[in-house]
Amino acid sequence: MLDIKKRDIRKKADQIRRNMRISNYGIMNLYKECESVGWKVIRYPLGENADLGFAMKKDKDIIIFTNSSSRLSREIFTLAHEIGHAVLHMDKMNSFIDNGLTLSDHNTDEREQEANYFAACLLMPEESVEKFMDIELLEEKQQGLTAIDIAKIMSEFNVSFEMVLNRLESIGKINSVEKAQLDNQKNEIRVRNLLKSAGGNATLNEPSNVLDIPYEYIEYVIYNYNHGAIPKETLVKALDCYKLTIDDVSDKINEPVEDDTDLDDLIGGLSD
Ligand SMILES: [Zn+2]
Repeated sequence: MLDIKKRDIRKKADQIRRNMRISNYGIMNLYKECESVGWKVIRYPLGENADLGFAMKKDKDIIIFTNSSSRLSREIFTLAHEIGHAVLHMDKMNSFIDNGLTLSDHNTDEREQEANYFAACLLMPEESVEKFMDIELLEEKQQGLTAIDIAKIMSEFNVSFEMVLNRLESIGKINSVEKAQLDNQKNEIRVRNLLKSAGGNATLNEPSNVLDIPYEYIEYVIYNYNHGAIPKETLVKALDCYKLTIDDVSDKINEPVEDDTDLDDLIGGLSD
């Protein structure tokens, strides 16, 4: 990516971040921030092997979806990546669907690289990471970074172990040898334990399985249920978010028909 393009992306990420609530160094709750900007975010446990997220424009609304069956730190990264598409690319394209490939650092698609870079700048701006390392990681100056330090950074910025390593390498805080060493330490002690030792947020490494659907999309959930794309318990949970029961919406419910579409229905429904 060209330096001038990178600078433009950093600038846009910084503008967005400036209006968000920051705990000390990291964004407190990116989901809440989307609400206040007016972007509609759907969180839905679609299963581990399903797509990770999408961003789309419907009329003037931006709708973002994240799969809450993925680890929370990954789900937050997906959200940041989708915000990147919304901020950088929605003038030319109306929708993006993301999976493990599009979110990977090795993806060669320009727009995917840009969205990934935006996500890194939004979640872990260079100066905030530097400041955190300077003020909070006291031992680091003498002995170099340990896996516990990485877990502390994870917790503050709500990102995965891998993302911390990638970001530290790309801003020149560690070299590839140090990165590999830290990655090995991660394999020896599980990240969950590291997070606990660091007094951090152990939920980052687990799927949240959160089901959060803006009220206006409840009918799409019912549509999915009617087409056999989601089980009854998912429908019950979604309705429960709004203190509704199946009886309350019984006039809209059919006996489910077997169908192998799920996300496609949701997207298709949204784009009607
Ligand atoms: Zn993407």
